[in-house]
Amino acid sequence: MHLIKPDLCTLCDACRVVCPRNAISVHQTENTYIINEDECNDCNNMSAVRCVPQCPTDAIFKANT
Ligand code: SF4
Ligand code: SF4
Repeated sequence: MHLIKPDLCTLCDACRVVCPRNAISVHQTENTYIINEDECNDCNNMSAVRCVPQCPTDAIFKANT
């Protein structure tokens, strides 16, 4: 799965719109976007996922599961 570093997220919305699983949303109280770990499937386990290259601040990273 992938995760977002809150301190790097600028709320630009670029990642959310490209996610085929609708796994990304804005957190209601924290100043960041979040990835729903139950929905993110690493773009069907592809090595080239959709969200990462869209992020202008490199806030999205692959998490060890
Ligand atoms: S890796 Fe793919 S499925 Fe997971 S949050 Fe990013 S775009 Fe969505
Ligand atoms: S693309 Fe990056 S900076 Fe923009 S909302 Fe997503 S995680 Fe935050």
